Amino acid sequence: MHQTIMVYRLLRHQIISKLALICQALVCRAPKLRGAGKLTWAWLWLILVSPQVLADEPKNLNATFEELESGVILSSDALKAKLEYLKANITLADLDNYLRLQRVLCWSTDAYDSNKRAKGLEFAQKQLNAEIIKQSPETHADLTLCRAWLYQIGGEVELALTEYNQVIARAYQLESPRLIADARNLRGAMYSFQGNYALALEDLFSAQQLYDNLNLTFWSLYNLADIATSYRRFGDPQTAYKYYAKLETKFIEIGDLESANAMATEMAIALEELGENEAALEKYRQSYRYLQQEKDEMAQSFVAINLAGILIKLDRLGEVQKYLDEAQKYVLPTDEAFYSFMMLFRAQFQILQGQPSAAIPLIEEAKSAFLRVKNTRGLTQLYKLESQIFAELSQWQQAYLSLEHFNRLHNELDIKLQTYRTTEMQTRFNTKQVETENLLLLETQKIRDNELLILQQNRYLQFTVIFLALIVIIIISFLAYKQAQKSKIFSVLALTDHLTQLANRRHTYAVGEQSFSENHDVMALILFDADHFKKINDNFGHDVGDKALTLLANISSSLMRKSDLVGRVGGEEFLVILPHTNLEQATEIAERLVDSIAMTDLSDIAEELTMTISAGVAAREQDKSFSDLLQRADKGLYLAKSSGRNCVKAG
Ligand code: GH3
Ligand code: MG
Ligand code: MG
Repeated sequence: MHQTIMVYRLLRHQIISKLALICQALVCRAPKLRGAGKLTWAWLWLILVSPQVLADEPKNLNATFEELESGVILSSDALKAKLEYLKANITLADLDNYLRLQRVLCWSTDAYDSNKRAKGLEFAQKQLNAEIIKQSPETHADLTLCRAWLYQIGGEVELALTEYNQVIARAYQLESPRLIADARNLRGAMYSFQGNYALALEDLFSAQQLYDNLNLTFWSLYNLADIATSYRRFGDPQTAYKYYAKLETKFIEIGDLESANAMATEMAIALEELGENEAALEKYRQSYRYLQQEKDEMAQSFVAINLAGILIKLDRLGEVQKYLDEAQKYVLPTDEAFYSFMMLFRAQFQILQGQPSAAIPLIEEAKSAFLRVKNTRGLTQLYKLESQIFAELSQWQQAYLSLEHFNRLHNELDIKLQTYRTTEMQTRFNTKQVETENLLLLETQKIRDNELLILQQNRYLQFTVIFLALIVIIIISFLAYKQAQKSKIFSVLALTDHLTQLANRRHTYAVGEQSFSENHDVMALILFDADHFKKINDNFGHDVGDKALTLLANISSSLMRKSDLVGRVGGEEFLVILPHTNLEQATEIAERLVDSIAMTDLSDIAEELTMTISAGVAAREQDKSFSDLLQRADKGLYLAKSSGRNCVKAG
């Protein structure tokens, strides 16, 4: 059976936890964010309208997120600093970034430290129960995936698988290519580890295509490494080795020495399976030296276990104890994947030392660890060794049972391999279909991102339109106000006599008509006319005449009550409308007016200028109309003129 320690897988997770490689899923947003940077005309408007809005765009937040999500390797200090920066600058009010942060926080859990893993699980649990997370299906799905990953590392593979399945179903519903890729990558890697090659490759091929299309370089390489490992496990170390060698070069090219070294370890495992044990030993030593130099004790322990394994194979037992002891210092029973093989090799070493009974408790430990993580390949190897131990102890019954177990599992694995080969052919055959499906998915994603972008632009557009509309409304209101002012002035002008500023003839008659129709009981009119005015003009000039008329208007207005109206109805003829006034009162007012004018000193206007007026009064009696009343006032005026002027007569 192939010797299979999943160094790479765990090294990779080590890398993930240490370097916070992952924030799953956010690529689906990347095109949206990139698109948002375009300067469309709507944006241009926004810049014109409100420059500070754009100036506040958190460019550094986005760059930090993108770096954390890209899969690029960061030192733990750099990671910590970046997470702190994000935490300090993101509040609940900034919902998109808040959700994105929760995902990054979960995925940056150091999953191989059991305390930190427990904290990570607690965090994921709390977030998954939060109302705000439940309202964002993609965030919820990604956090569920993160929790499943933590379950898997903690050895709870059944739970992990159930949740992987749920997340994948949800991711297809959400049509999120990144989430599908991440979930299928993790499930595929787990299937591969458990020996379910057919299912593993289906997942990994699909994830590969999505990662490639999404241009996620790092994730594409990590997934390819998982595919290579699956090849190795199903008995094609040759193909696996080729992949690993390519990946090692690629990782060195992009300066990711840690991943390059993980590939070196994988190459060693593949060489071991090809039976090239010397070459394998050399490659393991290369990897071991690198990790020693990097002071990565945990990863170094994992390689030490493999070194022990190959040295046992090469029958160079001198160094075995040293490597196993070294691993023992760091590898805990909860690190099942390594612990199981460490115990298996320790058992094997005991047998080689001639102490089969000391091997029994070790083999039991190894067995329970293999069972916990359902490692059929490891168990197969173990039962073969167990049978050997019992045989050496002459416990034939148990030796037989172990051999039976071995055979059963061996057959199971063979069937799985057979299924794998069939599926692999099918998978290759179906590749076109899967490709089309995936491309369709990516296309839908692009359309959705565009829709989102358009929606966002529309929002800005709406804002701009509202803003412009407000400006237009303000301008129109201002103009309308001005217009109203103007027409008010015009209408006043239309009703006013230009020289005296009194009501003009038209307006005076209109007020008279109205007053007549409203006041059914009493009202009176005084119609007065300047005496011999022609002479004033002739003797003093037209200007003096004008000034005299203006003065006449002012004096008559000042003598009347508020409710009365004085209007200029002819050249030097004026009409006073007096509501609620009887003949007696009107006559009295008229006489006062006539006297006042006669007594006014006009020397300011012209020396020796004198002026008198004659007035006719009429109070409403049997008159049918305002016109009747006016005629009677006119009659009064005529009487006053013919009676020698400067007097009042009733008409
Ligand atoms: P009587 O006492 O009979 O009313 O004599 P009179 O001269 O006042 O009457 P008449 O109707 O013959 O002449 C009116 C004069 O009033 C003639 C006209 O030149 C003058 N007049 C009319 N309107 C104005 C005006 O706006 N300014 C000036 N300066 N004179 C005016
Ligand atoms: Mg006159
Ligand atoms: Mg006249």
